[in-house]
Amino acid sequence: MRTIYLASNNPGKLREFKQAAMAMEISVQLLPGIDSLPACIEDGSTFEANARKKALYYSGFTEGMVFADDSGLCVDALEGAPGVFSARFAGPEADDEANNQKLLRDLAKVPPKKRSARYICVIALAERGQILNVVEGRADGLIQQEPCGTGGFGYDPYFFYPPLAQTFAQLSTEEKFTVSHRGEAFRKLLASLWLEAHRK
Ligand code: IMP
Repeated sequence: MRTIYLASNNPGKLREFKQAAMAMEISVQLLPGIDSLPACIEDGSTFEANARKKALYYSGFTEGMVFADDSGLCVDALEGAPGVFSARFAGPEADDEANNQKLLRDLAKVPPKKRSARYICVIALAERGQILNVVEGRADGLIQQEPCGTGGFGYDPYFFYPPLAQTFAQLSTEEKFTVSHRGEAFRKLLASLWLEAHRK
């Protein structure tokens, strides 16, 4: 079974990626020792720049293939904000609650129909300092005024997903991964790895 290493210390992401990869006979493991490595500074102005930077950096610490993701929320009425600043929208130490409150404040005068937004996720795969692949996934929705649901994280209680008529926080982890930006990007990565393995 082929192994790819995840460059992240988010256990939730590891669980999701592991589960999805199992069906394709690909094993996803946390990059060994990632916790004790100096962190990679995510200072890119796009999700792609950050994902590439992280994948390249961490691929210097193993012989295997490393993948890294960068994701966030882009709101049309806010000209794409918070974008790459999603994790720290309300300030450097901001938590989900503070970020959501800022989002609601910034959208206070925007009517419901004009609150279109999308989550974007870019995943980069690298091996020994070389990028092998970059894929993107997205999920389109609307930012609602009231929170709904207790699942997910970040902006999920406010992110209404029209095809399922629920917020992302109302979906189970598995349901969310089948429609989310991260799920879509990862399935593209898995498909490319599978094709490559079966072409040989
Ligand atoms: P990361 O850098 O990919 O871990 O994500 C950056 C930030 O984007 C997170 O801290 C969240 O604020 C936001 N974000 C990314 N993906 C999601 C999601 O699936 N749900 C809610 N918020 C998300």
